Amino acid sequence: MSDTSKPPAQRKVISNGMNVVSRFAPSPTGYLHAGNYRTAVFAYLFAKHEGGKFIVRIEDTDIARSKPGYEANIFEALAWLKLPIDEQYRQSEHRARHRELLEKLVADDTAYVSKEKPEKPGDREEVIRFRNPGGSVTFTDVIRGEITTDVTDLGDFIIARSFDEPVFHFAVTVDDADEGVTHVIRGGDHISNTARQMLIQRALGFPVPRYGHLPLIMDSNHKKLGKRTGAKAITEYRDEGILPEAMLNYLAFLGWNPGDDREYLSKDELVEAFDLSRVQKGSAIFDEVKLFSVNHHWMRALSDEDFLAHLGDAGHPMSRKIIPLLKERAQTFGQAREMLSGELSFFFSKPHVDPKQLASKEPRTSPGMTKMALESLSEAIEALPEGVSSEAVKEALMPLADAEEAKGKGGRGAVLWPLRYALSGQERSPDPFTIISILGPTETMARIRTALDLLEK
Ligand code: GLU
Repeated sequence: MSDTSKPPAQRKVISNGMNVVSRFAPSPTGYLHAGNYRTAVFAYLFAKHEGGKFIVRIEDTDIARSKPGYEANIFEALAWLKLPIDEQYRQSEHRARHRELLEKLVADDTAYVSKEKPEKPGDREEVIRFRNPGGSVTFTDVIRGEITTDVTDLGDFIIARSFDEPVFHFAVTVDDADEGVTHVIRGGDHISNTARQMLIQRALGFPVPRYGHLPLIMDSNHKKLGKRTGAKAITEYRDEGILPEAMLNYLAFLGWNPGDDREYLSKDELVEAFDLSRVQKGSAIFDEVKLFSVNHHWMRALSDEDFLAHLGDAGHPMSRKIIPLLKERAQTFGQAREMLSGELSFFFSKPHVDPKQLASKEPRTSPGMTKMALESLSEAIEALPEGVSSEAVKEALMPLADAEEAKGKGGRGAVLWPLRYALSGQERSPDPFTIISILGPTETMARIRTALDLLEK
């Protein structure tokens, strides 16, 4: 008979039994969404807060549904979130160990090979069932408190389809013990599995880890977040230009808060503050609007250098000057890139200006009056130095616009609208003073001259 106390080759010995080891045990059967990674974030933050280890175990025993591409995506996402992994395992590599322990349980008569009556095609004629002792199983969930399950009704449940095909409950229980996992932090949907897994632990003489079942995550329609309800792969958010700092910050707050009014915490601050006792029991809502606003915060906190680096190829020498505008308007780098090639592209190339728009927009003025209005600004604009601030531009031009207003011919707008439109070709854009400060007086005058020519025609 085999010896259950013999560690498998992969096992790393933990120096003392008190050291915390948590794990993230995803199945690579699809692209994981943000809610799945919330589990990784909590397991990671908890382990690091306690000075312990964070393990990732790929649960790939479902051969038909597990795909290397999904597994690669998991490691990509964890690297992006900057959650370094202390030890990494793949469940399928532990088959020999699973087999050894299945054989032991059957030899002990704690489990048995059961003849089955196949009910549908593909059903097995033989499976391995656990001899359920019945009674109740109680554990104290770190988050939810004491949970008692009457296990009698579970009957002699299946622990393997064959000696080489353990089911999830068996493989998880063995691996957690062999990997020295002290804290099983996982989704609330696993609560009902815990009693079965504890029965297997007892039969194998394994220590019982602490369990913490996290609150469920709902989408904004209050449906359970999942692939079926359209949850995106987390890496799609990365590709849309969400910062990893923002995603980490946002996920940490899905069912937890630091107990004070801080909303924006860096990874180090999260590690410092994280505490399972503050994890809520009730479900949490994954809200993209909130995620984007958290991202906006982290984008604004970037240095100009880092901001430009995130823009990548979309960055233009001129982009540096419009960083303040992008920081104000874009909530993701995807949006910032769109602005650079869309509504803010006039900073980089001369806009298309429609002469009709120039003169006929509210307040209604004639082409002649519009021309006079633009001409009235020329001298003041030419006198501006390069690198002038938007405040200084406003100071120089506002009195001229006020003077037009005093003449009662359409007010300030009769000056400021054609000015802004001549420079941007956009109905909506930043104010003309900001635009002039970025374009500089030379380019500004060139665009005004183009507009004046159009008005001549
Ligand atoms: N592999 C399981 C899943 O993806 C997790 C198992 C566990 O955390 O115990 O849902």
